[in-house]
Amino acid sequence: MARGASKQARERAGRRQLLARWCHRAGVLPLLGRMRLGSGDAVRVLAYHRVLESAEPDDFSFDTDLISASADAFRQQMAYLKRHFVPMTFAQVLDHLDQGRRLPRGAVLVTFDDGYDDNYRIAFPILRELGMSAMFFVSTGHIDSGRPYAYDWLVHMVCSTTAARLRAPELGVDWALGPDLGERRAQASELLDRLKSLDDEGQGALIARLEREWNLPRSEGHPHCRPMTWDQLREMRAAGMEIGSHGVDHRMLAKLPRDRMIAEVQGSKQALERELGGPVAVLSYPVGGPDAFDGDTVEAVRAAGFRMACSYVAGTRAIEATTLYSVPRLPVERQMDREWFEAMVAVPEVFSYTSRLRTG
Ligand SMILES: [Zn+2]
Repeated sequence: MARGASKQARERAGRRQLLARWCHRAGVLPLLGRMRLGSGDAVRVLAYHRVLESAEPDDFSFDTDLISASADAFRQQMAYLKRHFVPMTFAQVLDHLDQGRRLPRGAVLVTFDDGYDDNYRIAFPILRELGMSAMFFVSTGHIDSGRPYAYDWLVHMVCSTTAARLRAPELGVDWALGPDLGERRAQASELLDRLKSLDDEGQGALIARLEREWNLPRSEGHPHCRPMTWDQLREMRAAGMEIGSHGVDHRMLAKLPRDRMIAEVQGSKQALERELGGPVAVLSYPVGGPDAFDGDTVEAVRAAGFRMACSYVAGTRAIEATTLYSVPRLPVERQMDREWFEAMVAVPEVFSYTSRLRTG
């Protein structure tokens, strides 16, 4: 899940966008991009969550920060990567590593977190049309149950409750709920940022309490917040897409007691391999920021037989033995226009998000 940026981060984002536009107009990006491509083995791993028909959907009470792009923008972005970079699969990357071969300059990987059904309905046909692949990291418990994701449901509750106040004393929150959707979204965003400071039990208890108090049970589900199904994932895999683990129940692994953390890691791998009928080698840490995984988590992921793991720390790095279990990524978000996206993949150091708040 991606987190709404703070005001400061949004201002920084605005400056990046302006600089990207300027570089584009001045025609310096191809030059910068070539310098960057020639400067080492860092691999660009793009991170998406949701692709919807529109990046500004009407009547949408879920987390708009999880909308990475509209269908049109996504198609443009993929076509751009295909033209200017070297799209690869994780299987190809692992093959290169096994054979001690360097990755090609301009190697790029496309990933999705969580497992929303728009990945199947919208992103998958576009990828297929362009002859590209992507990695879809899914939380297997949600694929099994069809239940909405907890953090997104919390946003939905804050945006749609008829209650007048939001009380969460454990987070120092006692707010009058805003009169319009824009204000509710900002409050939900702030609440989610604070929520992630609690341990797993505390997070679950708060969400469950609001479900009860506001009579908005997550088990009811909602058409705007549906996970994919196993049949859809099997179809995607048969068509050349890669499927990886995002835990069982989208828990922050470093905040779980050790035995439950291990159960999330192993359980997701077993479910994927049972349902998809083949090995699953890569995981992305739910939420994925620096407080979402630690040395114990990495050890459990390695011991379970995963060969690589992605974080949601923004950036690029060479993929090698010491970085295999903490591969950074480049978040793509709906406010990125074409210039910004192209600048970000050309020169990620300058144009990607660096806020610690951006987590997947
Ligand atoms: Zn996630």
